[in-house]
Amino acid sequence: MNIHEYQAKEILRGFGVPVPNGIPAFSVEEAVAAAELLGGHAWVVKAQIHAGGRGKGGGVKVVKAIDEVRKEAKRMLGMTLVTHQTGPHGRVVRRLYIEEGSAIERELYLSALVDRGSSRVAFIASTEGGMDIEAVAKNTPEKIQTFAIEPAAGYSPYVGLEIASALDLHGDQIKQCGALIRTLYDAFLTKDMSLLEINPLVVTKEGRVVCLDAKINFDDNALFRHKDVQALRDPDEEDPMEREAAKYDLSYVKLDGSIGCMVNGAGLAMATMDIIKLYGEEPANFLDVGGGASKEKVTAAFKIILSDPNVKGILVNIFGGIMRCDIIAEGIITAAHDVKLAVPLVVRLEGTNVEQGKAVLAESGLPVVSASDLADAAQKIVAAVKSR
Ligand code: GDP
Ligand code: MN
Repeated sequence: MNIHEYQAKEILRGFGVPVPNGIPAFSVEEAVAAAELLGGHAWVVKAQIHAGGRGKGGGVKVVKAIDEVRKEAKRMLGMTLVTHQTGPHGRVVRRLYIEEGSAIERELYLSALVDRGSSRVAFIASTEGGMDIEAVAKNTPEKIQTFAIEPAAGYSPYVGLEIASALDLHGDQIKQCGALIRTLYDAFLTKDMSLLEINPLVVTKEGRVVCLDAKINFDDNALFRHKDVQALRDPDEEDPMEREAAKYDLSYVKLDGSIGCMVNGAGLAMATMDIIKLYGEEPANFLDVGGGASKEKVTAAFKIILSDPNVKGILVNIFGGIMRCDIIAEGIITAAHDVKLAVPLVVRLEGTNVEQGKAVLAESGLPVVSASDLADAAQKIVAAVKSR
């Protein structure tokens, strides 16, 4: 799960991480009031969307007068902000963050993530902050360094020193860096984050090390123990189909192709997507209905697939283990009736209660094409979609 920059900074502030003072705003008036409350001589008006690259797209402006705060707030609220992370359609800006301006001396990069290679939380540091870190990784990978934290030992000052050195920090900044790494690591573990990215981490002209931007991803599997984090969810930033799927505990990811897939098991779902591609079409989604899905869950899954206007055909591929094929068949029939199925449907069932499942489908009167195995199923749905 993703949250906004202002929410991420609020969480970090709670752990004692140095972030600039700021106030979220949902209207031009609120933005002006926020700037007045913050005081000072410079403010940053920041568009809040779940994507980075806002600076280049016109979603981050440093201003020197309250009137300019008003002007920028007016311009940004309601605008469709396109950045390299939003895709060509962009995101509508509905929230702003008004922050006190910082005088920047250096822009650095710092992040923490779960590193699968070392099975540890690792910090990634680079002196090349503020810009596109992907470009730095591609063009000058030697400027990025990784530091895995030994979980049994936790944070040790030694790691703090190493990271400070990688960031080319000196004097008191080394001490600030150590304290920062310790608190970020604490926040990361306590809140079950999967990614914490500070880009840029800055050294101010006064010599303070401050987090100027913050992006946090949380581990969805641990969200149940963080009600406070769940409350930060912004439905405007989430795909409506993925949101609906989450309600039914379905693993659904929307893709761009034309063949909707309903499969049980993530591995089988991926194999199904691969074989659709092999036969010359593209999957419209990844969907794993899970091991022990109910009829209601299958029905919901089917409706979600069909709500995607790109879907020109559906392939159901179920291997019944815990999941019974007759339950799947009943779910398909209910859903097909509810939504008035108007695209070809190929079903491949195998495993527990497969005969009952096939019989249920055959007796339903639905125009279901049944398939004997995965290759057969993929070829049949691709042919059906292509002939339309
Ligand atoms: P992103 O483009 O979405 O990653 O948004 P950031 O929050 O990282 O802001 C982009 C850039 O705006 C930063 O790299 C800074 O160069 C600049 N910026 C942000 N806040 C301030 C500030 O308080 N003062 C100054 N001078 N520049 C800022
Ligand atoms: Mn940034």
